[in-house]
Amino acid sequence: MTLPTTALLDAIHFAATKHRDQRRKDPAASPYINHPIRVAQLLASTGTVTDLVTLQGALLHDTVEDTDTTPDELTELFGPEVQQVVAEVTDDKSLPKGDRKRLQIEHAPHLSHRAKQIKMADKIANIQDVTLSPPADWSAQRRQDYLDWSEQVVAGCRGANAALEALFDQSLAQGRQVLEPVAS
Ligand code: NDP
Ligand code: ZN
Repeated sequence: MTLPTTALLDAIHFAATKHRDQRRKDPAASPYINHPIRVAQLLASTGTVTDLVTLQGALLHDTVEDTDTTPDELTELFGPEVQQVVAEVTDDKSLPKGDRKRLQIEHAPHLSHRAKQIKMADKIANIQDVTLSPPADWSAQRRQDYLDWSEQVVAGCRGANAALEALFDQSLAQGRQVLEPVAS
C-alpha cells in the first residue's frame, strides 16, 4: 500500500517530468510545473482539502491536455479515480478554442465534487496570473475577458467549497480593481 505522502510526491514527480520542457505564458516564462503545484496547494491550504485523489488530480490536471500523457498511463500509475477526475477537467483539444471555452461553462455544473474544486482552484491560480503576471502580449481587454469567462465557469462550481469560492471572489475583485481602477 502506497503511503499518501509518497502518492503525492509520485504525482508531483510525474507531472514535473511530463511538463519539463514547458513554460507558462508570463513574461518570465516560469516553469509550467509551478502552476499545477499552485493549484494543489490552493486546494490544501485555502480549501482544506485532504482527499488524495483531488490533490493528485490537481497536480496532474494539465498532463493529458498539454503533454503526451494518456489516460491509460494515469490509470496504471495513479488509479481510475485520479484518471477520471483529470478527464473531467481536460478540454477536448480537437474542438475550436471558442467551443472549448463555451463547453467549460456548460459542463461546470455537471462536474463531480472533486472536479469542481480543482476547477475553482485552477481558475483562482489563472486569474491571479492574469492580474499579476499576464502574458506580455495580452491587452487589458483580453485580460478582462478572461476574468469574465472564469467567473462564468466558477458560477457552475459554486457549492463545492466555500473557502475556495471566497478566494475566487476576492481574487476576481482584485483583478477588476487592477484592470478597471475606480476613478478617485
Ligand atoms: P488562452 O486560452 O490562449 O490562454 C489562457 C490559458 O493559458 C489559461 O487558461 C492557462 O491555462 C494558460 N496560462 C499560462 N500562463 C498563463 C498566464 N501567465 N496567465 C494566464 N494564463 C496562463 O487565452 P484566452 O482564454 O484569452 O483565449 C481564448 C481564445 O480567444 C483563443 O483562441 C485566443 O486566441 C482568442 N483571442 C482572444 C482575445 C481576447 O481579447 N479575448 C484576443 C485574441 C485572441 P492552464 O490553466 O490550462 O494552464
Ligand atoms: Zn490549469
